[in-house]
Amino acid sequence: MSKLITVFGATGNQGGSVITQLLSDSQISKEFKIRGITRDTSKPAAQELAKKGVEIVAADMNSKESIQAALKDSHTVFLVTNYWESANAEIEITQGQNVADVAKEVGVQHLIFSSLLNVTKTTNGRLTNVPHFDGKADVEQYIRDSGIPATFYLPGYFMSNLEMALQPGQDGALTWALPVGKDAKFPLIDIKADTGKFVKAIIRNRSSLLGARVLGAQGYYTPNEILDQLSKATGKKTQYFQIDEKTYKSYLPEFMAQEMLENHLFIENPGYYGGETLDKSHNILEEKLVSWKEYAGSSAAFKA
Ligand code: NAP
Repeated sequence: MSKLITVFGATGNQGGSVITQLLSDSQISKEFKIRGITRDTSKPAAQELAKKGVEIVAADMNSKESIQAALKDSHTVFLVTNYWESANAEIEITQGQNVADVAKEVGVQHLIFSSLLNVTKTTNGRLTNVPHFDGKADVEQYIRDSGIPATFYLPGYFMSNLEMALQPGQDGALTWALPVGKDAKFPLIDIKADTGKFVKAIIRNRSSLLGARVLGAQGYYTPNEILDQLSKATGKKTQYFQIDEKTYKSYLPEFMAQEMLENHLFIENPGYYGGETLDKSHNILEEKLVSWKEYAGSSAAFKA
């Protein structure tokens, strides 16, 4: 009898990528039935999945009762929480804990959680205002303490962020202004194409990856490398400005300005993944990942 994998965030980037990759794998799609979770089963993204044979179940991570129905009979669960919907770490942590509690109750055999590092702890208290990282790390710790068999997938810096961050300057050159120096290393990922490749590999290597962190990025790129490859892929001029912290914050809405500042200072030092290389995480993969140059070359945002 086939096992059941339940995917949170099925209508979004990460969960959607997991489902796409599982459906396209002839072996795993025989081994697992897929259940996708959304709060609104009537939305087009959910309906599209239903047409592909995915069981669509309504649940809200704020409600343990609805999570019970979502996790019924589940062998494996992919869990992603969305900090930015509330921009409130308490809410994100509670949602993660709710799913973890129910996963434990119903005996889930493998919980794959989309996590991030704890910035406050990794920097020994130098940077304390990155709650979208710290909250996920708290959920990771809660899952570890609960004893549920689990693996932690840590997505890198979305390539799609750059489509919003890079803006044409006065001379038309695509301009990126950040408060970090030219040696900062951004671990980039095409989140929609490649999350599922990592998660599929985590499922295949379950026993050796229990308790492990898998770093979800294609490669590390400095700002100069990002702009150089963008130029090569699109033929457009680019330029990078290192700006001071106050100027950087003035470009952002107040509720996220300090958080994004410290997020980038963390990327500069000690690094998004605390300086760890990507080699171990790449060794489990069977498919090639999308490079930044490939992504930039096919991005409609940069063609405009
Ligand atoms: P996304 O595309 O924004 O979609 C969010 C998904 O979460 C939707 O499928 C939504 O489902 C579901 N969802 C939200 N609240 C829910 C709730 N209360 N109950 C059930 N489902 C709920 O998400 P994503 O881009 O895959 O992931 C977002 C996360 O990535 C954020 O937490 C962010 O911090 C993290 N992240 C971002 C970056 C980056 O560089 N941007 C890097 C690393 C990590 P419905 O709306 O259909 O219910």
